[in-house]
Amino acid sequence: MPPKASKSKEAPTERPILGRFSSHLKIGIVGLPNVGKSTLFNTLTKLAIPAENFPFCTIEPNEARINVPDERFDWLCQLFKPKSEVSAFLEIHDIAGLVRGAHEGQGLGNSFLSHIRAVDGIFHVLRAFEDPEIIHVDDIVDPVRDLETITEELRLKDLEYMQNKVEDLEKAMKRSNDKQLKIEHDLCLRVKTWLQDGKDVRLGEWKAADVEILNTFQLLSAKPVVYLVNMTEKDYQRKKNKFLPKIHAWVQEHGGDTIIPFSCALEKMLVDMPEDEAAKYCQQNNIQSAITKIVKTGFATINLIYFFTAGPDEVKCWQIRKHTKAPQAAGAIHTDFERGFICAEVMKFDDLKELGSESAVKAAGKYRQEGKTYVVQDGDIIFFKFNVSGGGKK
Ligand code: GDP
Repeated sequence: MPPKASKSKEAPTERPILGRFSSHLKIGIVGLPNVGKSTLFNTLTKLAIPAENFPFCTIEPNEARINVPDERFDWLCQLFKPKSEVSAFLEIHDIAGLVRGAHEGQGLGNSFLSHIRAVDGIFHVLRAFEDPEIIHVDDIVDPVRDLETITEELRLKDLEYMQNKVEDLEKAMKRSNDKQLKIEHDLCLRVKTWLQDGKDVRLGEWKAADVEILNTFQLLSAKPVVYLVNMTEKDYQRKKNKFLPKIHAWVQEHGGDTIIPFSCALEKMLVDMPEDEAAKYCQQNNIQSAITKIVKTGFATINLIYFFTAGPDEVKCWQIRKHTKAPQAAGAIHTDFERGFICAEVMKFDDLKELGSESAVKAAGKYRQEGKTYVVQDGDIIFFKFNVSGGGKK
């Protein structure tokens, strides 16, 4: 008999995540003008999954969906040789030109900031290439100054938001004794002080109850960040760039998020070459495209994972947010699966790979039946059992 999930495995003990709880999460490309954002976005667009693969939704011109490469997925496709193969994808939005003063409406400030509000994470592009032909908005190339400029804009916008929130809550507290108002007010004051101290919201040690409230605000400095450092092909190839140590030091001091060096010029050139020529170029020059790393890191940074369904008809990655429980994960496939959820039959990818077949995994007692409280893990291979016809549940 397959082992059952025990009670003790119930509620996840991990800290709740800052941000929306949704499977439709996206990341935005942010940075000062002339740092390489459009060049990166155009390169990604050329690599994007064609829009006809998403028949039920509109893909905007500033949006690209890129496959997330995964060896496990490739292995499953080899095993099942399915009629249809659907990998996971990262949705990337191009958010143009943030400039100093954006929070006060400079440039197209406020509308850009509202675009950042709508994404769940940030690819922060930094210019670490010098080229006298391409002007920098602040004259000389200085990525650490640029980091300060952008992060400050985001924080100032958050501060303005928190200030308004505090005032609204104070008005509401005069009219009502609702305890919740006081709790929110206390938190807003703490967040305000945090921001005034020059700190991003995502770096705070917020309690679960705080996070629940914070998640209703969609603060800009609460969003996870990956720094993409755009340098010349030569610097990228030799893994040396004069700005990189300073960027690294700054990032370590400000939360230690991931830094990915890349070269826009190289990526642009590679994407325009036939595949075999690009491969030859990389081999001859001992260089590798950074796009796979960028996409995989972006996907994980916005807290997405996926589980697989696998069989001769289809091998598919179903993307969900980390900490999603089995019934809601089933709901990613179809709402009926969630409504009529009975159980999830789960195989671990490593077990299947090691043992070679579903029956071997079963024989080894590693095919598990999990219930409603099971928290789905990245790479689980799942078969959901459900029943909506019996009317057991509404
Ligand atoms: P955005 O304003 O951040 O979107 O910047 P763009 O992608 O439009 O790039 C601005 C200019 O810089 C364009 O002329 C690009 O061709 C150029 N550019 C982008 N990346 C690089 C790079 O790695 N090296 C050099 N030399 N030029 C680059």
